[in-house]
Amino acid sequence: MNIPMPSIAPIGTIATPFKQKFAIPRQPNLAQAKGVIQFHASYANPQGFKGIEEFSHLWLLFHFHATAHRGWKPGVKAPRLGGNAKLGVFASRSTHRPNNIGLSVVKNGGIEVTDGMASLTVYGVDLLDGTPILDIKPYIRYADCLPDAQDKLDSYGTIPNRSVVFTHTAQRQCEKMQGQHPDLATLIRAVLSQDPRPAYRQSQDVDDKVYKVALYDADISWQVKNNTVYVLDITRIR
Ligand code: SAM
Repeated sequence: MNIPMPSIAPIGTIATPFKQKFAIPRQPNLAQAKGVIQFHASYANPQGFKGIEEFSHLWLLFHFHATAHRGWKPGVKAPRLGGNAKLGVFASRSTHRPNNIGLSVVKNGGIEVTDGMASLTVYGVDLLDGTPILDIKPYIRYADCLPDAQDKLDSYGTIPNRSVVFTHTAQRQCEKMQGQHPDLATLIRAVLSQDPRPAYRQSQDVDDKVYKVALYDADISWQVKNNTVYVLDITRIR
């Protein structure tokens, strides 16, 4: 029997540098991207966060709101298996899943209270800007950290770690934006070193395509040559 769930309302929304799905790291903590969660009025009471500073890391439960309309499939393509082989949805961390619930462990950057309303900073997010947050729980080391845990797929398709080189133009453009976004250069390096191109492109010897990714309010153009990522141009989005 299918027992209906009560409807779930988000407790807030997270602001992140990732303005589009493309190039967001596949999992948390692969780039130290900052996120700030603004809570809806009924959840922003600072009492709800008392003691949270005791935990270095937190679990975020969130809604894959940008893909929810696509529904789910029992078999999903697994980037770790080269992008074509499929895994069962419940053996994957795919976004295309029943109920569209995401789960990420992130670093706790602390609570700030303004006019009686709490906001929470976190680091290491793999969430799109504007993602609805459903719940937050502390990472409890004695139970959540399992040194014997195995992931027999972790030797497949390890995440690339490419060198990232800024052209002189891109370097100057980045320096100009550094005042507003001090972590921009570090974030660009962390995101692009993981080579976010589709798996079939990564295995091509020659790829002349110039790719674009939006981080904060910057459009970044880049290209991969001889396994090195070249940052070509950084333009402020108007
Ligand atoms: N760590 C989470 C988990 O395991 O549930 C997410 C893993 S999922 C493979 C990570 C990808 O989800 C990101 O690379 C991004 O493309 C996508 N994503 C992040 N936020 C999203 C959102 N709000 N809606 C749809 N897709 C999102």
